[in-house]
Amino acid sequence: MPVRVRFAPSPTGYLHVGGARTALINWLYARRHGGAFILRIEDTDEARSTPEMTQAILDGLSWLGIAWDEGPFFQSGRQALYRENANKLLSSGHAYRCFCSKEALDSRRNASGKPAEWKYDRLCRAIPREESDRRAAAGEPFVVRCDVPKGKLAWDDVVKGRIEFDSSEVEDFVLLRSDGTPTYHLSVVSDDVAMGMTHVIRGEDHISNTPKQIALYEGLGVEPPVFGHLPLILGMDKKKLSKRHGTVSVLSYRDEGILPLALFNFLAQLGANLGEEPFLTMTEVIRRFDFSALKNSASVFDRERLAFINAKVMGETSPCELAVVLRPFLEALLPAGPEPGEAAVRVMATRAKDLRELAAMLVPFLTLDFPLDPKGLEKARKDPGALAALEGLLPRLEGLAEDEWGPAKLEEVLRGHAEASGVKAGALIHPCRLFLTGRTESPGIFDVLAAMGRPGTLARLKRGLDSVSAAGG
Ligand code: GLU
Repeated sequence: MPVRVRFAPSPTGYLHVGGARTALINWLYARRHGGAFILRIEDTDEARSTPEMTQAILDGLSWLGIAWDEGPFFQSGRQALYRENANKLLSSGHAYRCFCSKEALDSRRNASGKPAEWKYDRLCRAIPREESDRRAAAGEPFVVRCDVPKGKLAWDDVVKGRIEFDSSEVEDFVLLRSDGTPTYHLSVVSDDVAMGMTHVIRGEDHISNTPKQIALYEGLGVEPPVFGHLPLILGMDKKKLSKRHGTVSVLSYRDEGILPLALFNFLAQLGANLGEEPFLTMTEVIRRFDFSALKNSASVFDRERLAFINAKVMGETSPCELAVVLRPFLEALLPAGPEPGEAAVRVMATRAKDLRELAAMLVPFLTLDFPLDPKGLEKARKDPGALAALEGLLPRLEGLAEDEWGPAKLEEVLRGHAEASGVKAGALIHPCRLFLTGRTESPGIFDVLAAMGRPGTLARLKRGLDSVSAAGG
């Protein structure tokens, strides 16, 4: 049977890391087995669902490269199907009308002595069909409850192994509310049946829902899908990941300058064991993925790991591609500024941890108007001998031919000049780095000089030397 899996978010919040991992695992399974990945928006909670959230979820998935094969389907437009199933369950005796008022339920719950553990006492199950039909026809308010079958409600979970609930632990839950609106369980199962899901893979917070949903499959006479429940994602403090742990919306990582392939790999690694490499291509992740690779204990969301993966992905992304995704970040720093050259992007990407930082590191390549690290300036001022030697380096650099302007030749010239001037090469390199990049740390200085080009280098060195004497004077 062809694999059919789904991602079924409720648009009551952004696409967060947990949801994105669930989507990714389902998508990987579909891709791995040539199946279909279906997107279903569970927007039945009208008060809390918004079109903006739905759009943010679609944008988050698209940005990550998770494309859906069918959908998005919206549960808000499918209520007739759910009501039809409730009626089917009523007619076949797998559901019954419950006429207990809220007050009556509350009073029995309180009288039980253990209100928190109280489950519906199935009083209305005993009402004969004719009487139930008559009361409903007379306009008496009711809800429809599932008649949970006696015995075990069990499944072989692809992540957690065998899970069993005794039906005594499961309440005769509500399928239709008194205003006729379907509840979550009825909607989910109706859709999973109608959409032919072969596997339902979701977060472990849904484990307690699964016995109820299995009861519904039994009631509808449909074989349940294979279930799998993914472990929790924890923050570094080992507590369940939440907003307290900083950014959790997928799109906020985009806005911070994380590359989609980095987050894709990070999420895949949160869910599955895929090997030792810091990151893989999407095709390779798909090739290595299967349920057997899924982790079955909680994984920790380690922001440093994401930064590490991102730096690796950036280092292996072509400068052309980086230039495209960099554009909004550069635009924010230098509106309508020039495009950085390929060499500059290539060199600086070896040191930047994300696109935002890379953009900041590229600004000195695009304008002369960038700040110089104050500590670096202070240090430079303390070594006038080195500054004088640097001044003396300018004509040497000016004298280099265009085709000599490369890292090896530049190193030779700088070291030779340092020796001739009686200063250490380092004493020249530090101010040189500061004047070219504004920073006290950078990729290899000769690569930076090479990427900056001759006119750019000379202009920045002159400006730097002027700033030191201005600051010193
Ligand atoms: N809509 C549910 C949620 O966002 C998921 C339902 C399911 O996966 O069965 O938590």
